[in-house]
Amino acid sequence: MISTGMQAALNTQVKYEIESAYLYLAMSAYCENINLPGMAAWLRVQWQEELAHAMKLFQYMNERDGRILLEAISKPPSDYDSPSAIFTQVLAHEKKVTAAINALYDVAIKEKDLPTQIELQWFVKEQVEEEKSAQDILNMIQIAGESGVSLLMLDRQLGQRAGGK
Ligand code: MG
Repeated sequence: MISTGMQAALNTQVKYEIESAYLYLAMSAYCENINLPGMAAWLRVQWQEELAHAMKLFQYMNERDGRILLEAISKPPSDYDSPSAIFTQVLAHEKKVTAAINALYDVAIKEKDLPTQIELQWFVKEQVEEEKSAQDILNMIQIAGESGVSLLMLDRQLGQRAGGK
């Protein structure tokens, strides 16, 4: 069975993942509102990915006979200044999640919890991808600009990467 301290730390990570999902869903709603459906779709794929991250930990805790206790999540902002402001915030948020995963890994080391360390290695690798994709999109917006034809083309491209939804 998983230790009480490890359970508490994993429960907090479940909250962070669900909170990330909720933030990206709020950003998606905003992008729909400013007529950037491609970015909105991309963010909804991200929303689903974050929920999948939460459920991966949920399932892992169940496998280890841990107790899942859901925590309160905070209200995401409803308004954003610009497309680049959104992806600047996505990148900053993912960096915070990376720090949280790294701290969680430290707990697993201190607790000598080898299975949790192995489980978390997937998340460590995933965070490298998450930060890279946010940075890539931010770079593209900075080249395309905050409005105009280039931004519309980028929006369409992001919608395609998200499966055209
Ligand atoms: Mg995540």
